[in-house]
Amino acid sequence: MRIVVKIGTSTLAHPGGRMNIRHVEELVKVLSDLKNAGHELIVVSSGAIGMGAGKLGIARPKDMPTKQAAASVGQCELMYTYDRLFSEYNHIVGQILVTREDFDSAARLMNLENTLYRLLQLGTIPIINENDSVSTEEISVGDNDTMGAIVAKYMAADLLVVLSDIDGLYTADPRSHPDASLIHTVEEITPEIEALAGGAGSGLGTGGMATKLMAARIATGAGVEMVIANGEHPSILYDILEGKEAGTRFLPKTKPGTKKEADQ
Ligand code: GLU
Repeated sequence: MRIVVKIGTSTLAHPGGRMNIRHVEELVKVLSDLKNAGHELIVVSSGAIGMGAGKLGIARPKDMPTKQAAASVGQCELMYTYDRLFSEYNHIVGQILVTREDFDSAARLMNLENTLYRLLQLGTIPIINENDSVSTEEISVGDNDTMGAIVAKYMAADLLVVLSDIDGLYTADPRSHPDASLIHTVEEITPEIEALAGGAGSGLGTGGMATKLMAARIATGAGVEMVIANGEHPSILYDILEGKEAGTRFLPKTKPGTKKEADQ
């Protein structure tokens, strides 16, 4: 299977922004194992701004230049860590930083796809993030949930997994409604489902349930199944792949398009 895994800042970092070493190590171990089992993986990783702020010892920045500076520091930390940990399992990673312009222009999109396919052919794990150090609001995709869905769509992935600090989509906001229950399967994103997506997410990341539903719309509309799951225990990825009840699964609307084979 070709799987896009989007990893949110809340999974990678502690609330103060410093790296959550246990999460990251477990995550890399599981992803390496899935790669060993023969799956193709593309990682969309957040965490640059949050971790940069953590490393610099400043609060999550609000102004653009500080965000961009924090991203510049945090992206190094992020890739250094992924590179080092994946190397321990003999896997090679490649960094790709993109902005919305890379998806809006047909020529740039083709370049991006070519690079990604080649990275997959070479047996590597591409790790994508927004190029936060140079992108501004006007030219950014804005959040990595949407980015994950767009990548999954253009790379004709079989599955998009969005790892976050929430178990999935609930019948009500579980932070204010303790009796809310987890919805295991969404066959169609109806207005009722959208109404459940209310507020924003946790402090560090950009996304919330609304961006995740937007991502689900893009992914399922392109024939890609999407699962929102809690990144607290990365072994949940095994359950997701085995089709067990884990997180919230959004069923694809249409059949996937023709998949360009990475091994040709
Ligand atoms: N690109 C941002 C970062 O690396 C995260 C965007 C998001 O959380 O959706 O900090």
